[in-house]
Amino acid sequence: MGGRVCLYCGEALGRYGFPQGHPLGADRQGAFFSEAVARGLDREVSIMAPRRAKRAEIERFHTRDYVERVEHAEVRGIEFLDDGDTPVFPGMYEAAATVVGSGLDALSRIMTGECQRAFQPIGGLHHARRDAAAGFCVFNDLGVVVDTLRGEYAVQRVAYVDIDVHHGDGVFYAYESDPELIFADIHEDGRFLYPGTGAAYETGSGKAQGTKLNIPLPPGAGDQAFSHAWARVVAHLREFKPQFFLFQCGADGLEGDPLAHLRYSPQVHAQAARSLCHLADEYAAGRLLACGGGGYNRDNLAAAWCNVLRELVRA
Ligand SMILES: [Zn+2]
Repeated sequence: MGGRVCLYCGEALGRYGFPQGHPLGADRQGAFFSEAVARGLDREVSIMAPRRAKRAEIERFHTRDYVERVEHAEVRGIEFLDDGDTPVFPGMYEAAATVVGSGLDALSRIMTGECQRAFQPIGGLHHARRDAAAGFCVFNDLGVVVDTLRGEYAVQRVAYVDIDVHHGDGVFYAYESDPELIFADIHEDGRFLYPGTGAAYETGSGKAQGTKLNIPLPPGAGDQAFSHAWARVVAHLREFKPQFFLFQCGADGLEGDPLAHLRYSPQVHAQAARSLCHLADEYAAGRLLACGGGGYNRDNLAAAWCNVLRELVRA
């Protein structure tokens, strides 16, 4: 049985969503939370209110120019932040800053021991670059957490584990030559899916060579392929003994996702979360922050994320 688990949920966080039938709509938090209530999970966690990040916090990872560009995009009438995946919507800056701030609030509570593990379902925006939006991601809350761990808490060796169906390119390339960012990412092969990166030969550069593990799976791969890949992830993490575990648990690898082609069941999320809880207990005093990431079939994201939350509570 783990310690206290914090769950981030609230109206300001739910506003991170794109309008007009965009796959990442503002209804995803609600879809997850009603299932969590139906399973009684809400009574086993501490529900925490979202918090909006300050500019200076966002700029720990992002460039000042880019943060300003996001802040003013709406009044300047800009339609998309990127080539067409990430449209500007009313209140976008505030919503994206709330995704970041909620992750930082979770981090602070984990580091002070107020909670042992936390889940931020609307976080995990792993495609955003330091100076650009990409793939539905405005601010990269994960990168802000990593840079905050280093800058504010003197925690250097951080595990980043990503089971979203898409490669976590925004995190991977930001830390490609950083030997203390221990990276493991299982995703659909980039030859068949956005963003096209994450080949097995991408293992980190310079001093970081070997600290990054990318495992691309072919379209149609399911739970068995995931289990084989997961054993490699565990071995990789054990080799480096991280001091903190950051988990991006995108639900878009489940069968029936409208944007991708893998066939996981929600068991994959239970397996990964349980395993990471045990590794975090072993190496990192239990410190684990999970972020929802992608997932565009509402039933799938509800099932996958409730499995993650259940394991955070019980593993
Ligand atoms: Zn994804």
